[in-house]
Amino acid sequence: MRGFGAEPSPLGGIMLDESMPLMMCEICHEPLVPVQSLLGMIAVHREAADHPPLAVPQIDEVANCICDVCGSRSDLPWLVLCTPFTIPNAFRDGNYTDDGEWGLCDDCGPLAEEEDWAGLLQRAIEPCPANARWIRELLLALQANMLVACRDEY
Ligand SMILES: [Zn+2]
Ligand SMILES: [Zn+2]
Repeated sequence: MRGFGAEPSPLGGIMLDESMPLMMCEICHEPLVPVQSLLGMIAVHREAADHPPLAVPQIDEVANCICDVCGSRSDLPWLVLCTPFTIPNAFRDGNYTDDGEWGLCDDCGPLAEEEDWAGLLQRAIEPCPANARWIRELLLALQANMLVACRDEY
């Protein structure tokens, strides 16, 4: 899950204008879709959202300081390791493969350590309720494959 930017293209079959970097919304952390407008290429939510998109470049640097569960900006002091898994991708054809390494904030980390999956699910869904079904599937897969949650002491 860590680092949307590491994925080849979260935008499925949509061709990107090469002059435009992959963008994501800083509020909900969803990949944004480029569309042609009178003003040129603009980035919009792929699905209707309850807020205007706040477009930021989708780069690892950004993704790597965003909690993989709740999406908050954080140093990610917690590391959750699981056996890498593959599940059908809800956002595009094909599968989503998880690399088995999740970075969590100081609020989500303890929930993972206590295996409070209901609590984690609640924190994950809150910022983007529209994706609740996908988030539930992802967390169920994490739960089934989880190895350990520990505080990263770096
Ligand atoms: Zn958004
Ligand atoms: Zn978090």
